[in-house]
Amino acid sequence: MSQILEVAILVPLNKTFDYLSDYKIEVGSRVKVPFGRKKVVGVVLSHKEKSNFEKLKHIDKLLDEAPILDKPILDFLFWSSKYYHHPIGEVIATALPKNLRIGKDAIIKKVVGLASKIEKPNFSITKAQKLAIDEILFSLDKYRGFLLHGVTGSGKTEVYLQLAQTVLCQGKQILILVPEINLIPQMIARFKSRLDTCIVCMHSQRNTTQNLDAYLMAKNNTAGVVLGTRSAIFTPMPNLGLIIIDEEHDSSFKQQSGFRYSARDLCFIRAKQANIPIVLGTATPSLEMLKAVIDKKITRLNLAKRANGAQLPKINLIDMRTETNTALSAMLIAKMTQHLSNGKQVMLFINRRGYAPVYFCTQCGWKSECDYCDSLMIYHRFTNRLKCHHCNHEKIPEQTCPNCAQQSLEVFGYGTQRLEETLSSHFFDTPIIRIDRDTTRRKKAFANHLTQINSGKPCIIVGTQMLAKGHDFSQLAMVGVLDVDGGLLSSNFRGTEYLAQLLIQVSGRAGRDNQQGEVIIQTRYPEHQIFNYVLSNHYTQFASTLLKQRAQAKMPPFSYQALICAHAKIKHNAKEFLQEIANLLKNININSVEIWGPVTPIIEKKANHYYFHLYLQSTDRKALHQMLATLNQHTDSLSLKNKVRWYLDIDPVE
Ligand code: ADP
Ligand code: ZN
Ligand code: ZN
Repeated sequence: MSQILEVAILVPLNKTFDYLSDYKIEVGSRVKVPFGRKKVVGVVLSHKEKSNFEKLKHIDKLLDEAPILDKPILDFLFWSSKYYHHPIGEVIATALPKNLRIGKDAIIKKVVGLASKIEKPNFSITKAQKLAIDEILFSLDKYRGFLLHGVTGSGKTEVYLQLAQTVLCQGKQILILVPEINLIPQMIARFKSRLDTCIVCMHSQRNTTQNLDAYLMAKNNTAGVVLGTRSAIFTPMPNLGLIIIDEEHDSSFKQQSGFRYSARDLCFIRAKQANIPIVLGTATPSLEMLKAVIDKKITRLNLAKRANGAQLPKINLIDMRTETNTALSAMLIAKMTQHLSNGKQVMLFINRRGYAPVYFCTQCGWKSECDYCDSLMIYHRFTNRLKCHHCNHEKIPEQTCPNCAQQSLEVFGYGTQRLEETLSSHFFDTPIIRIDRDTTRRKKAFANHLTQINSGKPCIIVGTQMLAKGHDFSQLAMVGVLDVDGGLLSSNFRGTEYLAQLLIQVSGRAGRDNQQGEVIIQTRYPEHQIFNYVLSNHYTQFASTLLKQRAQAKMPPFSYQALICAHAKIKHNAKEFLQEIANLLKNININSVEIWGPVTPIIEKKANHYYFHLYLQSTDRKALHQMLATLNQHTDSLSLKNKVRWYLDIDPVE
């Protein structure tokens, strides 16, 4: 007798499809099925007694001998699909490595990551580390969340290593997530040198075969440790015993396209399902996690001092209002000179790549704007191009002003390229290493930069926020932060939280050895309250004042938000569509949910599409989600739905 199968096709469609099979196929297996005129890959979700459709097609073939998705992972994916109101097919597509998604065999080509020579640390753990480790080990066989709040260099990674050792001894697996690919190599190196197990990593810079091998080795329990960026949260690990999220506060754990999930938030669900502890490490906890501590949902473990006895850096503020028209204050240059002549390294941090952010006319004030976006074109020196960082549109710079026809066009402001150029005129015999998206595009480029820095010779490192995270440079004596003012003026309500985290993180790069490091922050707003806290390394106190403000304003984490974004070539279509949704939502009539909008975002036009936002907010998460679920059932009736593109973002962060 034929069996009816419910199959998820790996596309963003809000429904599943029924097929027939002449033989029994287990739930979680991949099948190839006819779909329209094509044959596509799908995953069997359930067996059905009967279908609502009359003429069912037969599956084309079974792709897996054993189910590729086991029950725990499928349950986890279903939960995610429901919470984010996102089609299960696309959720599964996000969870599978590319080769499985496109129907290739689930076979390991090359076993990698096997254990190598193990070293012992040449120190004993501190009291604070021991307390943290003991507390977590005490709960190894149950669900519990821990915020490992440790200042930069306090030995959080050492805590992870010791926990991993114990968990491995019990025959269990460990999942570690980091916010950025560039942090994986050093983490892998440290784990390999200490743990006698197979360690695999998963991220988008590895080729598809390597990622598949890693996935399957995790699934069949060969790999004891899986290290990856956010999508590794979906790796099947039958013996999962511990989840670690490093740099918990980092917004890279939130995916910003397609299936917009937060790996950090989902980790709690995964840990709950597996009934295991989860450890979230950071020097600058997010307000969400601090609130969870206050609500006693998770336990805070504190490492208040640097592990090797090094002092936290001394932070100085420079008032740029009194400096004349330059990116580098006299004080900054003097300090740099001093550290470099002591044989140390210095790092300057500027959050803009390219040469200069403005190309303008000195006569009439005209500025070069992108033809397709509401944004200025950024001048890039080496290619002599103006580039839009929103839509990647490029053009050759105008020679004369299109507005007044004068030959009076100039650049204004600084990006990494111009800073590098200015620095080389001040420090002509010191190597300058620029690290931004333009210099790290090629594979291994970042690793090569790190090798040069780790050689320990004096140099000036110029970088964007890529450099702010986790890196440990032993010879770095000083950090200069050049353009914090953008963060102070940010329109995102999380702007100051992010800026404080960034400043503390960047500062944490300085002076990891026994010498106290130094940090210089240049600003035109030295009296801003954020600096009272940052200068004294009092992140937690700053975070509590922010938490109080959020509580008063009933903003997250004291309420829950959802964003509906629509965009279209024709402006009023996007706006009208959201107005239609807003009306629909008001009819659903759940009082506890507030609806704002449609409103225009800061950048209204991107790549020739006009954007509008509709915000939903409630202190009652259930009510909010109930409203969204009802909305989802009615979206087919929206009259403009074919004229716009739209998405739903649950717990948005941007
Ligand atoms: P974090 O992850 O908190 O930034 P790390 O784990 O990288 O800190 O530790 C910072 C430095 O201190 C590393 O070089 C590490 O080897 C060293 N370290 C860690 N724990 C100790 C300890 N108990 N005693 C001495 N040094 C330590
Ligand atoms: Zn553009
Ligand atoms: Zn002009």
